[in-house]
Amino acid sequence: MTQKNVDVVVAGGGTSGFAAAIAAARNGARVCLIERSTALGGTMTNGLVPGINSMRHQPCRTVPVGLSTASHESNFSGKQYIKGIAQELVDRLLKLKAVYAHEGESPVRVNFDHETMKLVMDQMVREAGAEILYLSEVTGVIKDGDILKGVVLSDGGVIHAKTVIDTTGDANVVALAGAPWEQGRHNVHNHTQAASLYFLIGDVDLDKMIAGMDPYPTDFPDVYREMLHRLWGEKKPFAMLSFPTLMRKAIENGDYPPPCGTSQTAERGFAGLIRPIYRNGKIRNTTMHNVDMAHMCDPTNIPEFSKTISAMREFVVKYAEYLRKYIPGYGDSYLLSTAHQIGIRESRIIIGEYKMTGEDTLEGREFLDAIGWCGHAVDVHDDNGSRDLEIHEVGGSGAYQIPYRILVPQRIDGLLVAGRTVSSDITANGTLRGQASCILMGQAAGTAAALAAKAGVAPRRVDVAHLQKQLKADGVVL
Ligand SMILES: Cc1cc2nc3c(=O)[nH]c(=O)nc-3n(C[C@H](O)[C@H](O)[C@H](O)COP(=O)(O)OP(=O)(O)OC[C@H]3O[C@@H](n4cnc5c(N)ncnc54)[C@H](O)[C@@H]3O)c2cc1C
Repeated sequence: MTQKNVDVVVAGGGTSGFAAAIAAARNGARVCLIERSTALGGTMTNGLVPGINSMRHQPCRTVPVGLSTASHESNFSGKQYIKGIAQELVDRLLKLKAVYAHEGESPVRVNFDHETMKLVMDQMVREAGAEILYLSEVTGVIKDGDILKGVVLSDGGVIHAKTVIDTTGDANVVALAGAPWEQGRHNVHNHTQAASLYFLIGDVDLDKMIAGMDPYPTDFPDVYREMLHRLWGEKKPFAMLSFPTLMRKAIENGDYPPPCGTSQTAERGFAGLIRPIYRNGKIRNTTMHNVDMAHMCDPTNIPEFSKTISAMREFVVKYAEYLRKYIPGYGDSYLLSTAHQIGIRESRIIIGEYKMTGEDTLEGREFLDAIGWCGHAVDVHDDNGSRDLEIHEVGGSGAYQIPYRILVPQRIDGLLVAGRTVSSDITANGTLRGQASCILMGQAAGTAAALAAKAGVAPRRVDVAHLQKQLKADGVVL
């Protein structure tokens, strides 16, 4: 049974957790990273969401959303706001032809190979000097009053630590430790944004898929078609909207699977994006699909959410049939894989020392305790399937600053949080939850935990000027 005493435990080796472990170890802490699956990366890898949004400002105010989304993966214009460990990761993947980027520079959205990503994250964490415990789940905590002293693992093992960083994506440690959190809309119910089971479709004829837009100029305006034809001609990554007219036809014929948990027909909400995958330096004839397929979800209610997962599996198989029957280029395609981890956009959100608001992000506000910048658009999916996707460009100079205080939970000491569960309202969370900002917040939490351990203070009391200086020295744009 595991028995350890370290400076920092990172609970959850996903998007933010892998970066937290690296940053803490590089800054001199003894670190143990706990991951319940057998790979690092969380939503990025096991969740099959291989696209880092947004290393740069994400434009969508002056350009229609579909049009700008189409080219994010090959768009290097505008200022790059997120670097540090996120850019280092991209550079390492680039050497292995596992990402579409340039040395030292990322496009707005980075299309990467999620299998190579699992290995590179593992290597980076180990090279930094942190230990990884796979197949280990945090199931309990050790506390002395309101001070967190460590975690209990599923095998009964115990790890004592000066700071625990909760990067579980669901604020599991926060809940176990009794720190405050909230979930859902305006405290009315526990339902969160739509969930999605990501999946891959193999053997797609991309020439036919692209040419298949031409008869539908109302769905795909000239400027949009021209852009996609150009990107495909140049063999650059792209994202494509699904075919609205064909989808409506399938709904009328009863051939389109109704999303789970709603009586809506899927014409509202988010009917999906198609993205060819990028592997070994090339676009491949496999597409990944992001579709809102489950509404009225409560990912922390396990018996109810288990039913949702079963329903999502049924949805995906039917959706693959719909693609074969209706969508150009998919006639001979097949369901290649579904994600090992369910795509949860939102669950528990902590109540921290500061709650970031939609206005903070839309107005591009700056903070004295900033740990970095983020230019990712607000992207909020509907909870019940009756409203369209909400996308808003973030304001000010094109980015807002992220304050350290949203990583610090109220009441419990010895605890930090990074990733999609940081203290924020629904609108602010819609931008903070992007992968680039999660990696950035992970780097900041890991660095802060290491500085706290060195100084012998609670993370709440870390010298923010010192933290900012260290983050800058470690490549963060500040
Ligand atoms: C469907 C969908 C599409 C998205 N599309 C994009 C996109 O295109 N681009 C983008 O940038 N962002 C996208 N996002 C958002 C982004 O991917 C996530 O918000 C982000 O990856 C979450 O990072 P995280 O570190 O908070 O959690 P995760 O990356 O999910 O990591 C959590 C980790 O903790 C582990 N864990 C959980 N509980 C425990 C425990 N008790 N003990 C041990 N380990 C535990 C899990 O196994 C997992 O590895 C999308 C999200 C979803 C759901």
